Amino acid sequence: MKAECDHAVDYLYQYIDEELTWSRRLRIRWHLKRCGHCVDAFDFEARLKERMRECGKDEPSQELFDRIRALIDKETAESQDT
Ligand SMILES: [Zn+2]
Repeated sequence: MKAECDHAVDYLYQYIDEELTWSRRLRIRWHLKRCGHCVDAFDFEARLKERMRECGKDEPSQELFDRIRALIDKETAESQDT
């Protein structure tokens, strides 16, 4: 592995989390254009992150939505009784 690869991998997570300055992002993006090894590594991590984000957004919110709707239904029914 080249020294430049070490540098790119060091910033892998920050790059994916978009916590890097534009100059560092540009440098890593430039490296990725030329280095297949790092492209694979970045691609895998980026997809993993994306999948985790999707799961965290979709699954609990649907469950939460159902739970809230059930609560509202229950409250509506109770308020109608009194
Ligand atoms: Zn590389």
